Amino acid sequence: MREKIVTGNWKMNYDESQTIDLLNNLKSIKKPNDIRVIVAPAFTQLSKSKELLNETSFSVAAQNMNGAISGAYTGEISADMLKGIGVNTVILGHSERRSLFHETDEILAEKVRVALDADMEVIFCFGEELEQRRSNIHLEVVEKQLKVALFDLPRLLWKNIILAYEPVWAIGTGETASPEQAQEMHSYIRSLLVLNYDEIIADSVAILYGGSVKPNNAKEIFSGTDVDGGLIGGASLNANDFMAIVNAF
Ligand code: PEP
Repeated sequence: MREKIVTGNWKMNYDESQTIDLLNNLKSIKKPNDIRVIVAPAFTQLSKSKELLNETSFSVAAQNMNGAISGAYTGEISADMLKGIGVNTVILGHSERRSLFHETDEILAEKVRVALDADMEVIFCFGEELEQRRSNIHLEVVEKQLKVALFDLPRLLWKNIILAYEPVWAIGTGETASPEQAQEMHSYIRSLLVLNYDEIIADSVAILYGGSVKPNNAKEIFSGTDVDGGLIGGASLNANDFMAIVNAF
């Protein structure tokens, strides 16, 4: 049985008191037991978030990490630093990291390996840009992103990978992939897992959809048989909206 997962990516939003308010609001709202909920606050709020979510079923992820073990990387955070504060999950490859911070598939391949070596769980984001979809090369684009970063991994490590398909044209734009477009891509991704690994891996890896998921469209998007949850940006900054999405499953 694949896990159902909803993750909130808070990006560079909320100071400590706003984070505390959001966490307390989240904790006060009921959620189904069979859905795993992960929140990804900014680095500076990770420890506080861990503390406040201790003994709840919410988990905490980092939004990024550096691919080096340690050393002269001013301003960067390593896998061991995250593990040291009890953060065992990291989002890698978000489109904003790719476009604003020039993270290539090759850089991400290295980051993924370092995170997995540190025994972390990786939420790996990927997805095509608008022009690529218009040119009808979205399937090839996604295949390449996965091939370079992930398809060399030994099958044993896939237990620590969550995939997040996020068409770049749908992130923060209010435009979402239709449920059919999401399901088509998710089913294609699963077929790539069969091709590069086997049915067992393909059936066990959770594939999340991200891109303008809101309370009013979540149910439809999550209805795809290969859609195992969502990675939520804007709507995760509001506890009621985020938990409405969680409860839309
Ligand atoms: C995201 O940034 O991963 C995302 C999906 O954002 P939004 O939900 O705001 O489109």
